[in-house]
Amino acid sequence: MQLVETGTDNRARSVDVMEISRPNDLGDIANLGLTLPEAKQILARVQQAVVAAQANDHATLRPDCSSCGGRCHVKDWRLHQIATLFGTVAVRLPRFRCAGCSRTETCVSWPSHCRSTPELDQLRAHLSALMPFRVAAGVLAHLLPVEAGKSPETLRGHTLKVGEQLRNAAAVKPAAAASAVTITLDSTFIRGCRDGERHLEVRVGNVETPDGGRQVFGAVARTDTDISVLIRRSLETVGRTNDTELTAFTDGCPGLRSILADAGITDPPILDWFHIAMRLQHAKQAASGLSTDQPDRVRAKAVIVAEVERLRWRIWNGKAKNARCSLDRIRNVMQVFKGERGHRTTGVPSRKLWRALHEVDNYLRGQSTWLVNYAKRYRAGLRVGTSVTEGTANFLVNRRMKKSQQMRWSRRGADLLLQVRCAVHNGALGSGFGHLFEPASSQGPQLAMAA
Ligand SMILES: [Zn+2]
Repeated sequence: MQLVETGTDNRARSVDVMEISRPNDLGDIANLGLTLPEAKQILARVQQAVVAAQANDHATLRPDCSSCGGRCHVKDWRLHQIATLFGTVAVRLPRFRCAGCSRTETCVSWPSHCRSTPELDQLRAHLSALMPFRVAAGVLAHLLPVEAGKSPETLRGHTLKVGEQLRNAAAVKPAAAASAVTITLDSTFIRGCRDGERHLEVRVGNVETPDGGRQVFGAVARTDTDISVLIRRSLETVGRTNDTELTAFTDGCPGLRSILADAGITDPPILDWFHIAMRLQHAKQAASGLSTDQPDRVRAKAVIVAEVERLRWRIWNGKAKNARCSLDRIRNVMQVFKGERGHRTTGVPSRKLWRALHEVDNYLRGQSTWLVNYAKRYRAGLRVGTSVTEGTANFLVNRRMKKSQQMRWSRRGADLLLQVRCAVHNGALGSGFGHLFEPASSQGPQLAMAA
């Protein structure tokens, strides 16, 4: 394999890259084409050859002295090590001295502190946002001739740096103004790695427009990241103007409501149907697990299952005040499950049901002000909560940061990694990396089912 440089120069320069020798015998299919080690070696050598040619051309550019404007001559040559996607390359570039005033000038527009290419930085951050640093480092080393940033610690450092840049980035001006924007804000917890910080609160959310525009955002509480700034930026990015109609959804936490107020969202938020539906789902599951070993239990179970369904219907239709009737009725028939025996692994079903109902009850008592007639909204084509079906918190945080109990985070590390994760999902991490969202329209049927 030989590279031939073509251009204005009459003498074509060429460089031998590698000799490729593969068996002719295809009796073994493993002999077909290049192997991964060969491909990595070719990439690395082609990269070196291309960079050497580029550096050669760049070195011919002569800067003018920035002090007296005089002519500069080559003073000496310096090697710059730059990590790229296709291996670390050495770029040989001259330094210059002014003939007039002896001032030293660097090469024309060469970034003096650069250690890696933006494409490598983005890929490292992108992979780290999706999988643990150790796994990401392994994938990179497995597929590409990457030497720099192989260790999980280095990868972490690079990723957090990208996270910092993303946090401080400005809003992308949208092409069109949005007539309406829905915003959801939610919170979850991850495990902290420092003493006295066993649980770190993470606030996450998303903004959506009727035509499918979407941005997610998130921040760990008590870091340098201001979540209200992120909310304002997300709104700006999807095209919020003074005429945009804003609807906010959140869960029961008063802290989240004050964050929305800080971000300039003045209308009171609606309790996200997602959070109610989750709790009702727990109750429904517990009810379906009740024992049917005695005739009176069979009858009671049927009553309870129907009543849980009615409870859901009442809340969905904005009759949450009557929900207490359902809860009382269930309590009345639950005594036949006294002394119910549990499964070895899943526990006693009636106790689980009791706990689940208790949670629904508490939740409704605390949040009654923020409940609406969800059925009416839904029939009018209005949103009843987030369209991220598994919930924004699970989607943005839990999948990467709460996978196993062993994952513990520093406040800053978790916050900056979250910035990268949001950018990946927003399609904001460099060009060529697409959105990871499904189109918003495909969520309709699932939302209806959740309702
Ligand atoms: Zn000079």
